[in-house]
Amino acid sequence: GNGAQVPVLVIGTGYGGSVAALRLAQAGIDVHMVEMGQDWATVAPGPDGKIHPKVSAPDYRSFWMRTRTKQPLSNFLGFPIDKDVPKYAGILDAEDFAGISVYQGRGVGGGSLVNGGMAVTPKRENFGAILPSVDAAEMYATYYPRANAALGVGSVDPDWFERTSYYQYSRVGRKHAQRSGFAWTFVPDVYDWDYMVAEDNGSVPKSALAQEVIYGNNYGKKTLQKTYLAQATATGKVSISSLHRATSVRPAATGGYDVVLEQINTAGDVVTTKTVNAGKVFFAAGSVGTSKLLVKLKATGALPALNSQVGQGWGDNGNVMVGRANHMWDPTGDVQSTIPCSGIDNWDAGGAFAEVAPLPAGLETFASFYLAITKTQRRAAFSYNSTTGAVDLSWQTAWKQDSITMAKTIFDKINKTEGTIYRTDLFGTNKIWGDHLTYHPLGGAVLNQATDNYGRLRGYDGLYVIDGSLIPGNTSVNPFVTITALAERNIERIIATDL
Ligand code: FAD
Repeated sequence: GNGAQVPVLVIGTGYGGSVAALRLAQAGIDVHMVEMGQDWATVAPGPDGKIHPKVSAPDYRSFWMRTRTKQPLSNFLGFPIDKDVPKYAGILDAEDFAGISVYQGRGVGGGSLVNGGMAVTPKRENFGAILPSVDAAEMYATYYPRANAALGVGSVDPDWFERTSYYQYSRVGRKHAQRSGFAWTFVPDVYDWDYMVAEDNGSVPKSALAQEVIYGNNYGKKTLQKTYLAQATATGKVSISSLHRATSVRPAATGGYDVVLEQINTAGDVVTTKTVNAGKVFFAAGSVGTSKLLVKLKATGALPALNSQVGQGWGDNGNVMVGRANHMWDPTGDVQSTIPCSGIDNWDAGGAFAEVAPLPAGLETFASFYLAITKTQRRAAFSYNSTTGAVDLSWQTAWKQDSITMAKTIFDKINKTEGTIYRTDLFGTNKIWGDHLTYHPLGGAVLNQATDNYGRLRGYDGLYVIDGSLIPGNTSVNPFVTITALAERNIERIIATDL
């Protein structure tokens, strides 16, 4: 409530925030977490009797405070498929900046609620480029294993993979990759693989095998609510306020920090504004959420001593999407698991790692679909716009050409080998590349730049960053395992020396 005092306040309940809460609680410290999205475990089911709708049937539950859906694939067979919805605290935010839409999870559990669960540890030889100031030996000996264990990372059973009709799209992806001489690899995931096999056998309610993923999974996925946050709340030392948005943090005359929180309703109206005092504050609002807060607080005089690195070093992990049109003898399946389980690795030669992704349309599309992660050097900055009061991002749409060029090192070759072409009907009329978005925002409060080498914000004792904003723009693979492992490393040091 208003005027409350807490030893530690964590802003955001995604990967970084959940790691911080669990480890601080285990060290005996009381933690309060605030999350602007809903606690989906307590939300009433919708008209389909479920909490989360399918990807093929988005509705009011799907998007954060939009009046029209903004599906990542905006078109099907050339036709626009978005539709009007009532404004609601839905689970997926498509946050629009001038040059890019950034997709993010909203709710207790952050991105784990909406993501594909692909849990990839980068190749060790690439780590130096990802986090140059971090001891790689320590990360690979201690913190990556710790993160993988706590997240519940596992792999598809290779025998079932060969049999199930739900991964025909992945097997076609493998055949095409290998015929063009590319390395193809299984990708681990936090989805419960035994549960998925049971779905296939018809013995449990279907989720991944029933078109559920980016608007939430009703079953099967080990979200943070089932892993880190379940453990954290079980200590009795962690409490969570959902539908609470942090808007300001400033040093308090009496010590610690005054944090302003807006409690909102599911339509987005502010119901109450509260101020709480926190001894220490962890920024874990995600790359965009943390960067926006810090840039605004520096510019408006709440935290003027933050350094000039705040807001810098933001990247999109080189995300770009594309579909290929297969021949009639290469169907990818009218049923598809929403959880990708394989990828094509051309990182060293071409700067691209491509997930073989599903297109769960419920009918045969003869399409192979991919989300590529590329080795781009472009970095954008956040800045406070005093006219609008908003925080802008300097990303330029044209910068995605670098990602397209790298992705083409894989797909031009596959098209040539297979005698196939790109699909032009998925992102608009005659538009091949999904180059308007990212699922993987990274940076904005980069480690050892805006913060020290453990996430302590420079200029203020007791303020920390512990999420994807610490990572300078690219992880070479899907990011959440690296975000989690870095948070494990940093919180261990912070508990040992600052608390
Ligand atoms: P987040 O998980 O984004 O958590 C931040 C939380 O803070 C959110 O819950 C947000 O609502 C809350 N918040 C923000 N601002 C405030 C505020 N002012 N006050 C209170 N709360 C606030 N990554 C992978 O590794 N593998 C995948 O398969 C994968 N698939 C993805 C698919 C989709 C559709 C999307 C959108 C992302 C995917 N990602 C994937 C990316 C991954 O989910 C993110 O990298 C990860 O969630 C980032 O973790 P984080 O701790 O930095 O922040």
